[in-house]
Amino acid sequence: MPDPNGFLRYDRRLPARRPVPVRIMDWREVYPPAGEELIREQATRCMDCGIPFCHEGCPLGNRIPDWNDLVRTGGWDAAVESLHATNNFPEFTGRLCPAPCEAACVLGLGGQQPVTIKQVEVEIANAAVARGGLRPRPAPAPTGKSVAVVGSGPAGLAAAQQLARAGHSVTVYERDDALGGLLRYGIPDFKLEKHHIDRRVAQLAAEGVQFRTGVNVGVDVTAEQLRGEHDAVLLACGALQGRDTPETPGRALRGVHQAMEHLVAANRVVAAAGEGRPALAVLPDGTPIDAAGKHVVIIGGGDTAADCLGVAHRQGAVGVHQLDLYPEPPADRDAARDPWPTWPWILRNYPAHEEGGERVFAVAVQEFVDDGTGQVRAVRIAEVTVEKRDGRRIVTVLPGSERELPADLVLLAIGFEGTEEQPLLAQFGVSRNARGAVDARPDWQTGADGVFVAGDMHKGASLIVWAIAEGRAAAAAIHSYLGGVGTLPAPVDPARQPLAAR
Ligand SMILES: Cc1cc2nc3c(=O)[nH]c(=O)nc-3n(C[C@H](O)[C@H](O)[C@H](O)COP(=O)(O)OP(=O)(O)OC[C@H]3O[C@@H](n4cnc5c(N)ncnc54)[C@H](O)[C@@H]3O)c2cc1C
Ligand code: SF4
Repeated sequence: MPDPNGFLRYDRRLPARRPVPVRIMDWREVYPPAGEELIREQATRCMDCGIPFCHEGCPLGNRIPDWNDLVRTGGWDAAVESLHATNNFPEFTGRLCPAPCEAACVLGLGGQQPVTIKQVEVEIANAAVARGGLRPRPAPAPTGKSVAVVGSGPAGLAAAQQLARAGHSVTVYERDDALGGLLRYGIPDFKLEKHHIDRRVAQLAAEGVQFRTGVNVGVDVTAEQLRGEHDAVLLACGALQGRDTPETPGRALRGVHQAMEHLVAANRVVAAAGEGRPALAVLPDGTPIDAAGKHVVIIGGGDTAADCLGVAHRQGAVGVHQLDLYPEPPADRDAARDPWPTWPWILRNYPAHEEGGERVFAVAVQEFVDDGTGQVRAVRIAEVTVEKRDGRRIVTVLPGSERELPADLVLLAIGFEGTEEQPLLAQFGVSRNARGAVDARPDWQTGADGVFVAGDMHKGASLIVWAIAEGRAAAAAIHSYLGGVGTLPAPVDPARQPLAAR
């Protein structure tokens, strides 16, 4: 029986982050493991309310009150089992999820701070490793059916694990040189050290999943070959088409780049250092890219922008501005606009924001300014208002508000426009919709029979928790399509959307 008064006895507390001056000198994770005492105390704040809305907030349907109570009472092994029943990779979500479950926690109804659900989750994931590792769970018997998974991000890996455990022969094709999708070279190590991915990949391999890296499907192998070799195909290629701003004067200057170009290059240097190899951060064409000694301007306000900020400080930037088109959000939920239990529009401070830099809200870039040699030297910005008219975004510049910010390196982190246009699409006979995503029928099949889609490629740029949920659900649909015995869990359907008021 959970403690119904725990939240009255204990305030919400998170473990201390590593001190800023220490952590910006390395690439290790920002959070050290929390002590057991703190986590058990915080789990005690969960009152196991009759209707746990956190379940609805979490696309995976994680059984949050169950494992909170198990942690409270020290039942770590049972907590590990309970969490893994709904989530293949809690070490990823526990570190990286923005926790819509916490926005939906019933404590929020009475003006209380939510349970630290995400922190409890990551500590259960840590306990799984500490208490005997992530034991492989191979299928009792093979089904004789074979599935190709294209893309090794969280959607592809979750689907591969579900299908392999159901007895299907699974091969994951990844065009990169290492597995993990955006978790590998998109998200920096200070948010997710890569040994977490390696450990999971080893578990999947021990469960029979085969991996083929450095294979660009549609180029190195054709869709026809894949369809000939496998009984079903899952496309989980992500939504990696970065939004650009070609109309802004000076966009072609040296020093103005897509954020992902910089992040991938920086993460590759960290990976090389981990293997004892020296490496320079370079663009695909070999041009060096590094924030050391530079004034950096990051355009955008989301995860990608915050990751660029943390990377810039670790590389030794002399100053960083982060620009946002929209006004500064309120610190607390505006209940009229975003009533509980929906995801509120509030100011989100990532650990990277503690490390320095200046955030500038309600501004738009008017020009990237040339230093006379074709290299950017400044960004000219203006204050703006933004409103929606007839579904269209109207940006109005405040006259006389223009000013320059020094800039040697400009990073565009202004979102993604869906999955990339690439040969694989036409070869499989699937196309991008108006959002740049690939539509799925209710059974997760694309327009092509036997070809399924999941994750960002289907949903558009989203979150890891959604990618895992869609990967699990698509695996369940593939299992049925292949005539598998019984059913696999399907936490979401293709039409499922986050909790929203409108
Ligand atoms: C910088 C950044 C930071 C982020 N931070 C967070 C965060 O903190 N929390 C969070 O929840 N979400 C975050 N996200 C979003 C999250 O990473 C994605 O939603 C998630 O990774 C999507 O998973 P996926 O499996 O659908 O695709 P991806 O992770 O994008 O993986 C797709 C994979 O498919 C491969 N691929 C594509 N085409 C082919 C082909 N033809 N052949 C073979 N392989 C192919 C790609 O190389 C890639 O490895 C972040 C995103 C970015 C860009
Ligand atoms: S995966 Fe995300 S939404 Fe689900 S319980 Fe964990 S932190 Fe909450």
